[in-house]
Amino acid sequence: MGVRFTILGSGSGGNCAYLETEETRLLIDAGFSGRQIRQRLALLGRSPESLNGILVTHEHSDHVQGLAQIAGKLRIPLYCNRHTGEAIEAAQGVSFARRLFETGATFEVGDVVVETFSIPHDAQDPVGFLIRTPAGNVGFLTDLGHTTRLVIERVRPAHALVLEANHDLKLLQEDVRRPWSTKQRILSRHGHLSNDAAAAAAEQIVTADLRHLYLGHLSRDCNRPELAYQVVSERLERIGAAHVRVASTSQEAASPTLVLGV
Ligand SMILES: [Zn+2]
Ligand SMILES: [Zn+2]
Repeated sequence: MGVRFTILGSGSGGNCAYLETEETRLLIDAGFSGRQIRQRLALLGRSPESLNGILVTHEHSDHVQGLAQIAGKLRIPLYCNRHTGEAIEAAQGVSFARRLFETGATFEVGDVVVETFSIPHDAQDPVGFLIRTPAGNVGFLTDLGHTTRLVIERVRPAHALVLEANHDLKLLQEDVRRPWSTKQRILSRHGHLSNDAAAAAAEQIVTADLRHLYLGHLSRDCNRPELAYQVVSERLERIGAAHVRVASTSQEAASPTLVLGV
């Protein structure tokens, strides 16, 4: 069977991924409607009923909007820190089967070990994850205004990494739909990573073991999948890291399933 990892969708309007090992079935964030998540899992022959838990990075709606329908109704355990759990319950008016962790802590779900770490973003207590499975490690590093030495170190053991490439600086500056205050928020040290910032982060993170780099959380208006791909893959090629397979993700559809350890 192996360990299978599928990004069900990623973008500034919704984020959700699915990880399956022999013993454990997890969602990482649930930022689409319950119906959408159910449909996308069904394409893999899976359903929310079979989940062992949902890991939550932070309470912004593009990461949690399907939680009430999925985790609330089915009583699927929600793995989050206290501040994030309280913010979600207050916003959604639902009480979840919370499994609380302290930010920075490591915990197990079946045969999976989840390491958590703090990221700089404008939410209550946002985190990234490094998920260690029997077949390899999957890292999540999205929704951060800038990288720190800590986050780089924590995701460096990843074999597959989801890294935010939110916007192209020029497209964001030229965008006429967003007010200046929103642009300031996105660009701040607690906002989102640009393509250039993602490329710089990838350069620091890359190891011989990193094989798959998914560019995630792309802005629909202020980025293009091919642009994000180009900026990051050119940087990796320049430093001799052509072994990393770079792929942009989409909010509209799931990415092809990655079988780890193959
Ligand atoms: Zn966010
Ligand atoms: Zn987000």
